[in-house]
Amino acid sequence: MTTYNIAIDGPAGAGKSTIAKMAAKKLGFIYVDTGAMYRAMALYILRQGIDRGDEEAVGRACKDMDISLRYENGVQQVWLNGEDVSGLIRTEEVSQTTSAISVYAPVRQKLLQLQQELARTNNVIMDGRDIGTCVLPHAQTKIYLTASSHVRAVRRFKELEEKGQMCNLEEIEQDIIERDYRDMHREIAPLKQAEDAVLIDSSHMAIDQVSDAIIKAAGERGLEDRG
Ligand code: C5P
Repeated sequence: MTTYNIAIDGPAGAGKSTIAKMAAKKLGFIYVDTGAMYRAMALYILRQGIDRGDEEAVGRACKDMDISLRYENGVQQVWLNGEDVSGLIRTEEVSQTTSAISVYAPVRQKLLQLQQELARTNNVIMDGRDIGTCVLPHAQTKIYLTASSHVRAVRRFKELEEKGQMCNLEEIEQDIIERDYRDMHREIAPLKQAEDAVLIDSSHMAIDQVSDAIIKAAGERGLEDRG
């Protein structure tokens, strides 16, 4: 049976993971957060004290990393060399290191096959930066989800505030802009809207409105016709 794949790409903090999780639950699909896989690799680089600017050293280190995904009650966990690191990869330091090392070919090659295999064997909603353009060019539905950098920064600010973490809105917006710039301007698999992707700007939309828009787009692209 052919699987049904929904690819969601977009800049940092556009709400991809929250919305993809919600839509996956409604559809009974597996949610694959590819950013978490890149983050686990960045955590390894940080732990080993490897200079993120040293392409050769990062490339060599890729051979020592085993990255895998597991699902517990439908929730994705990312494992690095036999350790569940899901709770350790959401820091600002990891975010910046991730976008710095994800420009290197060996880093991207390491994850490409794993991501494609997951989509070949499961109905997935997969989110990231290059899913519609490189990883799953034949995905039945592609979404490019964005929002203004200010709205994205405010959302992140509120998230951190709720967790009781001190933060500065301007710094958060600056970090987001920097990360987007790197992700959009790298040579390999840069973030861009696939030609056949549906553009959704979530700046003024509620989470469930966006999730419904994605399900509707998939409905228009053959999801409901499947036996
Ligand atoms: O989606 P998330 O913010 O967790 O991604 C962290 C970083 O991982 C991104 O800024 C990007 O540099 C990298 N990434 C990527 N390709 C993907 C997913 C994430 O390069 N498919």
